[in-house]
Amino acid sequence: MTPLFPVAGYGLVGLFGLLIGSFLNVVVHRVPRRESVIRPASHCPHCGHVLRAWENIPILSWLLLRGRCHDCGGPIAWRYPALELMTGIFSVVVAWQWGFRWSLIPALLFTWILLALTLIDLETQLLPDRITKPGMLLGLLINASALFWSGLALTTPWNALLGMVLGYGSLWLLATGYLKMTGRHGMGGGDLKLLGLIGAWLGWQAVFLTLFIAALSGGLVAVAFLLGGKGRDYAIPFGPYLALGGWLMLLWPHEIVQGYLHLLGS
Ligand SMILES: [Zn+2]
Repeated sequence: MTPLFPVAGYGLVGLFGLLIGSFLNVVVHRVPRRESVIRPASHCPHCGHVLRAWENIPILSWLLLRGRCHDCGGPIAWRYPALELMTGIFSVVVAWQWGFRWSLIPALLFTWILLALTLIDLETQLLPDRITKPGMLLGLLINASALFWSGLALTTPWNALLGMVLGYGSLWLLATGYLKMTGRHGMGGGDLKLLGLIGAWLGWQAVFLTLFIAALSGGLVAVAFLLGGKGRDYAIPFGPYLALGGWLMLLWPHEIVQGYLHLLGS
């Protein structure tokens, strides 16, 4: 490969990530409202005018318009360009860590699904079935392709199937146990499906450490909230931490296993 290729490759992945981020904005806004992500076309939430092509360019349009609608001057939240930028950066990180091979495609898809679910969970405390269920199925299908050709798969079909069952099942056990002991619902059904989804994409081996990272990071944030005086009843969704764990397990599985073993040994 020529030295020029990686640079151009990262640039392309980054630009593509910006466009996907633009679509994720639509997904995050509309899926919890049970609206179609295809129709109607993107429009201003204030005056309803349909965005012209030049008003719909990731980040650039927002900067050109200085965060205001061209027609009515209504404010356009900074989270729209922020999510576009984040998706672009995350995509480049995945390409950089993963390399340019066929399985980069599912690695990116997985990243984008996790990103959308994280933002929806933060905003609505829900992980919609409309994303988690087809997401699980897509993971199984991609890994089932290894039956014919192993280039695209992230793990073997068997590992994926077991991962889905183990991911869903382990959280189900935890949630049921918690309910029996405390009489309170600790986790939503969406969390179960999300860990099932992560298992379906990465295989059963990733499930335990995903859960470990989620519990650790979620615990740290909960302690920070308590110390910050936000109170113990402050509801913190678990989905973003599961997504974080799944994403780290996609990118650095060996490093995390080594780190975990090191932690046990010390
Ligand atoms: Zn407007």
